[in-house]
Amino acid sequence: MICYGNLLNLFFPSRCPICESKSDRFIHSPICAACWKGIEKYSGNACNICGIPTISLYTTICESCLRAKPSFTTILYYGIYEGTLRKAIHLLKFTGIKRLARPLSGLLCDLAIPEADGIVPVPLHKKRLRQREFNQTAVIGRHLSRELKIPSMLNILKKIKDTLPQTEVNREERLKNVKSTYTASEKIKEMDLLLVDDVVTTGATARECASALLTAGAKSVTVIALARSQSKSLV
Ligand SMILES: [Zn+2]
Ligand SMILES: [Zn+2]
Repeated sequence: MICYGNLLNLFFPSRCPICESKSDRFIHSPICAACWKGIEKYSGNACNICGIPTISLYTTICESCLRAKPSFTTILYYGIYEGTLRKAIHLLKFTGIKRLARPLSGLLCDLAIPEADGIVPVPLHKKRLRQREFNQTAVIGRHLSRELKIPSMLNILKKIKDTLPQTEVNREERLKNVKSTYTASEKIKEMDLLLVDDVVTTGATARECASALLTAGAKSVTVIALARSQSKSLV
């Protein structure tokens, strides 16, 4: 028989998953305070549009953005998708530790987020929503909405085609994977929007979602993400 205590241990293990030390009742539990403090904000060189880390001091726009200018204004993100930040996003997304959404969205408040009329989370297809039971970006969007006092706009953007998770396909497939996948309601006409995602990988999802929102009449779309995966092809 599974008792409540066992269930608690299952969802909130008493050991920090990073350093194995006792994790206690931190707001970011099960991650301990020392590990949480280790989450670094990325402050290196980056493309002014898509935010991809760049090596060159003289490059302000990456090759991919020069080749095809994205529909979104810019991507703002907190850190690189690695270490404790990656683990925390995994615990929220796949283990379902929803309370990590609050401290994670707290990180976003440290970004220079522009004024906006609404917050739109990147949606999941209803099939995946059923499997996972909640959309982590919607939960993050709700916390951010409370912090910034900007309305959270759910059901504005819809994913109409189910695609493979971005992490399971290669780059070429990823770009194909998201083509015409999203559709947006015209309720966002003339609005400046913040599109919230957890992790930006190639930026293909951000491009597609922003295009759908702009086609529906949005004035501008700024992407806000917790993390960005570091590309191997640094410019
Ligand atoms: Zn720890
Ligand atoms: Zn770029």
